[in-house]
Amino acid sequence: MKMKYNKNFDNLVDNYLFSTIRAKKRAYEEAHPKTKIVNLGVGDVVGGLSQTVVEAMQKAVGDYLSPATFKGYPPEQGYEFLRESIARYYSRLGVNLSTSEIYISDGAKSDIGNVLDLFEKTTSLIPNPVYPAYVDTNLIRGNKIKFMEGRKENNFLPLPDFSDKNSYLIYLCSPNNPTGAVYDKKQLSLWVDYANQNHSIIIFDSAYESFIRGDYPRSIFEIEGSRTCAIEISSFSKRAGFTGLRLGFSIIPNELEVQKKKIGKLWLRRQSTRFNGVSFVIQKGGEASLSEKGSRECTRQVDYYLENAKILKDLFTNLGYDVVGGVNAPYLWIDCKKDSWEFFDYLLEKHQIVGTAGAGFGSLGKNFFRLSAFALREDVEIAKERLTKGGI
Ligand SMILES: *Cc1c(COP(=O)(O)O)cnc(C)c1O
Repeated sequence: MKMKYNKNFDNLVDNYLFSTIRAKKRAYEEAHPKTKIVNLGVGDVVGGLSQTVVEAMQKAVGDYLSPATFKGYPPEQGYEFLRESIARYYSRLGVNLSTSEIYISDGAKSDIGNVLDLFEKTTSLIPNPVYPAYVDTNLIRGNKIKFMEGRKENNFLPLPDFSDKNSYLIYLCSPNNPTGAVYDKKQLSLWVDYANQNHSIIIFDSAYESFIRGDYPRSIFEIEGSRTCAIEISSFSKRAGFTGLRLGFSIIPNELEVQKKKIGKLWLRRQSTRFNGVSFVIQKGGEASLSEKGSRECTRQVDYYLENAKILKDLFTNLGYDVVGGVNAPYLWIDCKKDSWEFFDYLLEKHQIVGTAGAGFGSLGKNFFRLSAFALREDVEIAKERLTKGGI
């Protein structure tokens, strides 16, 4: 038998989204070297990090000097001090977790892909438009995908179809990337009821929970019944600026079972086989970000992005566009009334503003445009001035 590669890779659609954006931006810069381009296209934080977090990490590095305080391999599930801090954070949301239900990782994206190791090949229910990693990880695994439609009519918040009795892995991301839409408690309760009825599992991505200021659930575990049907995947990337440091976690309730098998046990086995943990320094930084002072500093940074989002939302609304998101979320989802790549070129040429073409997030994004509030205020102000003066 000759070696064969995993043919599932042939099912991936080449994702040229961010490379195309980079290429277009670079071409424009080369042709107009004196013009400043305002980049509202990326989903990465701009920093700087909280003082409390940086100091905690500096102190932790010092521990490596002496054998007495040196740290080797971290515990498989993550340091207890960090899991305790996370549990305390959740208790303030009214969610009681045991530290045994919290699994530290190097980021939400890893867990999103890795969680598929726990289940037989299946069909996944995935929104369209969507964060591309959900689709691609399922295709590589050989899973089938059933898309659920996010449209203006449902405020980009698909709800369960109770007439469909199949079991699925159900992907929910709230606040959403790319649309910025946020599920309320009643809507999430429908999903939890549906999942429990059909023996489905909800994969709840709460990467943007820290942007919620209104009365919306920050965790799926605020919903009654969720402990028997949900896994929550979360991250320090957006709430504390850890995109480059790498820290996330998954929550798997002790009750969560499939065919009487405890999913948390499978996950721990999977992680201890394939993963050797996150460094002590980074976990100390994560702990500091959850301290009273660290939380305050991180919240201030998130507030700054939310203010950017508000400026951009008011701007595009005043220009006559329908805008979803931008409240309780760092992303604005703009009905650009034309092909999203056309709109991309237009904004770049006319105003030297870069966003993200909605087409890159699925077929239903093709006439929408994502703007990111992860930017410096001065850049947002420049964008505002250009658009206000020059029109659109
Ligand atoms: C940014 C983001 C994450 C976070 O990923 P990390 O690997 O923790 O940096 C997860 N989910 C979505 C939808 C995101 O946009």
